[in-house]
Amino acid sequence: MTLPRTDTVVLYPEGALSATASVLHAEPVEGGLAVLLDRTAAHPVDPAWPDQSADRGAVIVGSDEFPLIGCVVGATDGERLFVGADVPVKKGTEGWAFVVVHLLPADAVLQSDRAEVRIDATHRERLGIGHTACHLASLALNRALAGAWRKEPRADALGAPDFDAVACERSTILERGSLDEYRVGRSVRRAGFDPEALADLDAVEAAVRLEFAAWIATGAVVSIEAEGTGLTDRRWWVCALPDGTARIPCGGTHATRLTELEGIEVELDARELEGAVGFAMITHHGDRAPVA
Ligand SMILES: [Zn+2]
Repeated sequence: MTLPRTDTVVLYPEGALSATASVLHAEPVEGGLAVLLDRTAAHPVDPAWPDQSADRGAVIVGSDEFPLIGCVVGATDGERLFVGADVPVKKGTEGWAFVVVHLLPADAVLQSDRAEVRIDATHRERLGIGHTACHLASLALNRALAGAWRKEPRADALGAPDFDAVACERSTILERGSLDEYRVGRSVRRAGFDPEALADLDAVEAAVRLEFAAWIATGAVVSIEAEGTGLTDRRWWVCALPDGTARIPCGGTHATRLTELEGIEVELDARELEGAVGFAMITHHGDRAPVA
C-alpha cells in the first residue's frame, strides 16, 4: 500500500450515503487505525473550519464490518501522512494530496483491499438540515442588520453587507440546528458596523425570524456546485431564493429543499464574548430545547 498523490474523491457533496472503494493505505495513528480510500461517501471534519462534524457510519472490508469511529481531513506529501490539526501545509500546496482519513478501531485488521463505506443516513440528513438552516439564517441576519453600516463591507451572497463574514467567531452545525457566535469587537466596529443596531436584539430577532420563515416557505431547491470531485476542489451551496440565487462557498452537506427545514426556528441570545458585546444565533427544531 502506498500513500496517494491525489486528493480523495468525495461523493458526499452529491448526497451519496455509500461507496465502494479501494483501500490505498492504512497505518496506526493516535485514536485508531487510519485508512485511506480512493473514494468515499464519508464527510470528514476539517480542523481548518470545523463547523460540521464527521459523518457516522461503518466501513466494511471483506467480511468484517468496522465502526467509523472518526473521519478527519488529512494530508500527505507521499512520504508521510498527517492527520487533522497536524497537517503542516495549506490546501492546494504543490506536491501535497488532501485525503479523507477514516478512523477504524486500533485493532482492526484489513483482510481485503476493497472496502465499502456506509453512512448513518439519519445523522447525515439532520446535519444537512442544520447546515442549510445555518446558511439561511446568516443571510437573514445580514439583511436584518443591513442598515447598521456606516461604510459598505463586502456583500454577501444576496448583496447585503456581510455581517456574518465580519463578525462570526465560531459556527457549529448540529442535528437539525446550528449555533453561530458573533462578537462585535473593535475590528467589527472599525469595519463600519454600528453596535447600537444590536441594542434592541428582540427587534433584530423578529426581522430574522420573518425572513427565515418566508424563505423556508418557498421550498426552494438547494444544490451543491463543485469544480471537481476531489476533497479540496471548490464547492458552493446554491439556493434559488426569490430575491436571487445565493451561492456560498461550503464544503459541507445539506438539505436538498427548504421544505426539509419546516419546523426549524431561529433565535438570537445576547452574550458577552471575550470582553466584547456579542450574541449567539441559534437554529433549532421547534420541538427541541434550544442549544445555549
Ligand atoms: Zn457551510
